[in-house]
Amino acid sequence: MTQPHTPPANPPRAIPALSAGTSPRPRIAVVGGSLTGVTCALLLLHAGFDRVTVYEAAPDAASHRGGGLIGLEHPALGILDRLGIGQDEFVAYPSETVLEVTIRYRQPIHTARRTYPGRNTTWSLLHHALTRRLPDGILQPGRHVTGLAERDRRPQLLFADGTRVDADVVVFADGRASTGRRLLDPSRRLRYAGYVAHRGHTPTSHTLLRDFLRLEPGPGCQYTVAPIPDGLDWTLYLTCSPADYTHCFGAPPQRRMFALPHHVSPAARAHADTHAALVLPAPHAATVHATTLRTAAPVMDIDPPTRMAWPVGAGWAVLIGDALAPVRPHTGRGANNGIEQAAALTTALTQHHRWGAHLATALDGWQRRQLPEAVAAVRQGPRLGAHLGNHQP
Ligand SMILES: Cc1cc2nc3c(=O)[nH]c(=O)nc-3n(C[C@H](O)[C@H](O)[C@H](O)COP(=O)(O)OP(=O)(O)OC[C@H]3O[C@@H](n4cnc5c(N)ncnc54)[C@H](O)[C@@H]3O)c2cc1C
Repeated sequence: MTQPHTPPANPPRAIPALSAGTSPRPRIAVVGGSLTGVTCALLLLHAGFDRVTVYEAAPDAASHRGGGLIGLEHPALGILDRLGIGQDEFVAYPSETVLEVTIRYRQPIHTARRTYPGRNTTWSLLHHALTRRLPDGILQPGRHVTGLAERDRRPQLLFADGTRVDADVVVFADGRASTGRRLLDPSRRLRYAGYVAHRGHTPTSHTLLRDFLRLEPGPGCQYTVAPIPDGLDWTLYLTCSPADYTHCFGAPPQRRMFALPHHVSPAARAHADTHAALVLPAPHAATVHATTLRTAAPVMDIDPPTRMAWPVGAGWAVLIGDALAPVRPHTGRGANNGIEQAAALTTALTQHHRWGAHLATALDGWQRRQLPEAVAAVRQGPRLGAHLGNHQP
């Protein structure tokens, strides 16, 4: 027999404000205004933290990434949902299909169809959807963080212009070349994996492609292409010695982790065009050849992280996103990991500031739950690279 519903003895209590009682509202400094940093700031603001500032080194936070394709899986999409960001705003082609095509002698010999548990967006679409929701004054461009000190038992950020900012929690979301990682976890250095992701964005108004297409033409090479608003976005992975990288992009891989369009030399274009013509079916080689807007990223490896949070006096500094664990692009996990880590960090900080949870324990639980995913993605990169035939030079 069904039991009648009994109302709770006490009426439900209102959710208390953050930092109720005597503890002051925490100052949270986010370093890096790309996908991970801005997502983190929005999640914190939504949770009620009202003293959040994002410090971004680039003078114009919206223009520094070219805008390449990024696949987001359901957990990350769910977090964006919670922020009220509808997929129609950042997913232009809602396909879940991945076509994997084996190529020999420039001809397709086998096609496999997979379903991706997520959607494709681009850095530009997603970054715009995120930053337009930030209240004025939260994102401060042109603010290059150079150091971290302890003052009055709290973290203090040092900037290239000589200014300083006090905080209670510092979230380093400052990407592959992270200053935060160099300061907090200096033994983990990036190593060049011996190949480059050449990227291109070619405008075309007549593409029939609606899905994500991956071509595998043999050892040392992979080509992916997908539709984006007004064109196609492609990535061509090619083996490249450190000396050739320097020749093609003007600086060694460790110094130039993103080659912007003005860094891509005629030699780099010729390298990509020549290989495309040798291994890809003619229409794809023609797409590469016709592309004027190009960028590149050297593929890097790093030792897996063993921690994400460090005490600084009575405050904390944490690493998230590529700052924590830059992973090889074909894992498709970099942005996903950053968004998931930001959401879980917000939960831990909320439990502390709203419900009085012990902060060190909350952060320990956060890193214990998030580290395995980051470590797995770091380890998966070289395995995928070996499958492509790309090894350390
Ligand atoms: C070819 C390619 C394909 C990819 N595909 C996928 C995919 O399908 N799925 C996926 O999840 N990921 C993918 N990724 C990875 C993804 O793009 C990154 O993991 C993600 O953009 C990292 O975001 P982030 O905010 O952590 O770091 P970044 O985007 O690197 O941002 C760091 C920010 O910090 C700023 N900054 C740096 N130093 C300082 C400082 N000292 N002071 C202040 N600001 C600073 C930088 O200017 C930058 O704005 C791909 C990457 C590549 C190259």
